[in-house]
Amino acid sequence: MELLRPESAEAAAAVLGHGSVALAGGTELVPLLRDGLVHAETLVEVGHVVPRGIDGTTIGAATTLAELEVDPEIPQVLREACSLAASPQLRAMSTLGGNLLQATRCWYWRLGFECYLHGGDLCHARRGQHREHAIFGNERCASAHPSDPAAALLALGARLRTTARELPISELYRLPTDDDRNVTALQPGELILEVDAPRPEASVYLKAMDRRKWSFALVGVAAARYADGVRLALAGVAPVPWELPSPDALEEATPLPGTAYKVDIARALVRRALEAVGAGGAPGSA
Ligand SMILES: Cc1cc2nc3c(=O)[nH]c(=O)nc-3n(C[C@H](O)[C@H](O)[C@H](O)COP(=O)(O)OP(=O)(O)OC[C@H]3O[C@@H](n4cnc5c(N)ncnc54)[C@H](O)[C@@H]3O)c2cc1C
Ligand code: SF4
Repeated sequence: MELLRPESAEAAAAVLGHGSVALAGGTELVPLLRDGLVHAETLVEVGHVVPRGIDGTTIGAATTLAELEVDPEIPQVLREACSLAASPQLRAMSTLGGNLLQATRCWYWRLGFECYLHGGDLCHARRGQHREHAIFGNERCASAHPSDPAAALLALGARLRTTARELPISELYRLPTDDDRNVTALQPGELILEVDAPRPEASVYLKAMDRRKWSFALVGVAAARYADGVRLALAGVAPVPWELPSPDALEEATPLPGTAYKVDIARALVRRALEAVGAGGAPGSA
C-alpha cells in the first residue's frame, strides 16, 4: 500500500478516489482497512493540509476532539459531545472531519454480512439483534449513527466548507436508498476543510450510554438555544444524525421491538436538555 503526503488540500482532493482514501487520525479508517471493509491501494494523508485549530466560530476539520473539548470558544454542546466520545487516547488522535464521516457500528455491517447497507437486500438487524439500533428512519437500514459531535453540530446549525462547496451539515447526511447506499452526500475526492458553528445563547449535550465512559450513544441529545428558538438533534437513533423539530416529534418514532426503550430515554433527555438551556417549553419558544 502506498502512502501519499500531498502539499495542499487541493492536491490531496485531486488524487482521491479510484483506490485512494483520505487518512486523518486513522482511528476509524485503519480498523476498517484491517477488517477488509474498506479497500485502498493508496492512503492520502490529509491531517497536515486540512485546516486545524479554532478561529472565532470556524473550526478546522483536522482539529482533534481533544482540542475541541477544552477550548472555551467552542459552544458547550460541542465541547460536551467531544468529551463524552470514545477515550482520551482516541480523542487525541480523532479529527472532527473523520468523526463526522465514521461508519456505522452495526455489528452485522462490521462483520461483513451482506446486508442492505453493504448492497444486499436485507437488514439483518431488523430481524435479529438490534438493541443499539434506530428508532427513526429505520425502514431499510436500522443502524444508529454513532457521532456525538455530528448531533451537536446539527443542533448548532453548522455549515461545512469542503474542497468543492459550502453546505449545511444537515445536507452532509442522507438515508440510504435502493439506488445509493451511502449515508453521506460527500463526493469521491471531496474533503471537509472547515466547520462554521454559530455561537448559541445556551447549549448542552446529554448522552445515555451502557457505561459512563468510552461507550457509544444509546441516545445522545444536543440542544442549542438562539434568539429565535431552540434546535434539538439526536445521536444514536437513526442511520444519520437526526434533527428533532419538536419534542412531540418523538411520538412519530418507529422503534423496533428491541429499541422501544430508546424512545423513553430520548423523552427524558430532551426534557432535561430543554431545562438545561432555559427553555422548558418546546423548541421555538425560547
Ligand atoms: C473504540 C472507539 C470508540 C469510539 N467512541 C465514539 C463515541 O463515543 N462517539 C463518537 O462520536 N465517536 C466515537 N468514536 C469514533 C471516533 O471519534 C472516530 O474514529 C474519529 O473521530 C475518526 O477521526 P479520524 O481523524 O481518526 O478519522 P480517520 O480514521 O482518519 O478517517 C475516518 C473517515 O473519514 C475520512 N476523512 C477523514 N478526514 C476527512 C476530511 N477532512 N474530509 C473528508 N474525509 C475525511 C477518511 O477517509 C475515513 O473514511 C470511537 C472510535 C473508536 C475506535
Ligand atoms: S442496520 Fe443497516 S448496517 Fe446493520 S444490518 Fe441492517 S442494513 Fe446492515
